[in-house]
Amino acid sequence: MVETRKQSRNAKPRKRKYSKKSDDHIKIAKERINKLFGEAELIFNSDSSLSNRYVELARKIAMKFKVRIDSSFRRRFCKHCYKYLIPGKNLRVRVDSGKVIYYCLECKKFWRMPVGNKFKNKK
Ligand SMILES: [Zn+2]
Repeated sequence: MVETRKQSRNAKPRKRKYSKKSDDHIKIAKERINKLFGEAELIFNSDSSLSNRYVELARKIAMKFKVRIDSSFRRRFCKHCYKYLIPGKNLRVRVDSGKVIYYCLECKKFWRMPVGNKFKNKK
């Protein structure tokens, strides 16, 4: 005689809580990131540290919802110290042989970005 094991106890109904990330949340996250960068720009002249805080918040939202920050916004903060940057104020921008060199005056580091339509398909 083979003893039958109680298997019914193992079959617990499970709720799928995190399986789906709704599009609405992603949309809201993107809107919030947009707003934060807008606010950061407005507040920069009166309180640059608050701008940096907004960048931090925007990055956190992006990470939480796994949203990519728009390339137009990614130019607005330093890749090293994540401070909000304004060209001519705390950011120096130079173009060198098809590349843009960004020089952050906050942490004295620089990085390059390819310029032009290299990644875009021309139509
Ligand atoms: Zn920096």
